[in-house]
Amino acid sequence: MGIVNADVTELLQSWNNIKTAITSIETTKTSMTRKYQQLNGEWKDKKYKELGDVVQECSRALNEILKILSKGEKFIGSLAKSLQEYDNVNLDGSMGSDNAFVQSLRSMTYSAGETPSYQYCLGVLTRGNVPEGYLNVISERHQNGETRVRRVFDHFTNQMLIQDANYPPNQTAHYAPMNYEGHRRGVYYNATSDMTNPRGAGTTYFHELAHMIDHASTGYQGNLSNTPEFGNALMQDGQRILQLYNNLPPDRQNAFLTRIRSDSAHSFSDLIDATTNGQLHGSYGHLREYWTRSGNLQAEAFAHFFEASMGSEDKLEMLANFFPTAFGVFSALIESIQPDQYVRVLERSR
Ligand SMILES: [Zn+2]
Repeated sequence: MGIVNADVTELLQSWNNIKTAITSIETTKTSMTRKYQQLNGEWKDKKYKELGDVVQECSRALNEILKILSKGEKFIGSLAKSLQEYDNVNLDGSMGSDNAFVQSLRSMTYSAGETPSYQYCLGVLTRGNVPEGYLNVISERHQNGETRVRRVFDHFTNQMLIQDANYPPNQTAHYAPMNYEGHRRGVYYNATSDMTNPRGAGTTYFHELAHMIDHASTGYQGNLSNTPEFGNALMQDGQRILQLYNNLPPDRQNAFLTRIRSDSAHSFSDLIDATTNGQLHGSYGHLREYWTRSGNLQAEAFAHFFEASMGSEDKLEMLANFFPTAFGVFSALIESIQPDQYVRVLERSR
């Protein structure tokens, strides 16, 4: 297996180098054009026009290089994916022990260029640094994850991307779905804060990556979770809880409120706040306005259910008990994106 390991490592290093090269050429192209435009006004003569022709030619040449690099980047990316899929297949369909590829991802840390450093966290390409012990924390949650949810996570590892693991802690962690220049698609969060997250270590990591999986599983054409069925199920469950709550005697109402105000009830608090229009809530929740945007309720619920399923049993139990209909829909969504390699296993073993 030693040879396989080395090959995959080299492959991933080349992949990163190509990505770095693409970014640097794009930057050069932009800055060259900008500088040329800045000269306009100062140079109003023939020389300016001649320079323009040179700039244009350079730009064309750089575009040609970019085209070739992008092809290489796609090719190496899919090669890495095939290798991973090849190694993932176990004849009995179980996850078994980690294969060489996953192990190499777990243990690998290297830098592409001087800054910033890249590494793999559970196989997810991560830009920036993570604190000591963090990989153990998220690995443990991963190991304790619900099998079917974990398979989906593993299936998407090479499509997920953490753009910044050192995002300022005073700014809101998020998944950026659009692929703007300067704010590329991926997750932005602070790994050090997530290590001591009062809602549970690793909560932000799995929550934000779940948003990315929700998006990636449709080929980035909207979110998988965005269905009326999921939305209705959430609303129905929320309204039923509100009714039950309203019929409770005051002392039991208070006990309930105390329970949902704890940090570990953050997902429940967020969803009950959304589905009762703020009539019931604990200590956590999004702003009212956030919930008025179509699909946000489903997206948040998907991320909460997903995160809880990745090694946070208490949260999962609470969500499944109080939002049983919605949990059923979530499970069906997870089922619908089961990697087909587990279905194909029977054919291969013939
Ligand atoms: Zn979220």
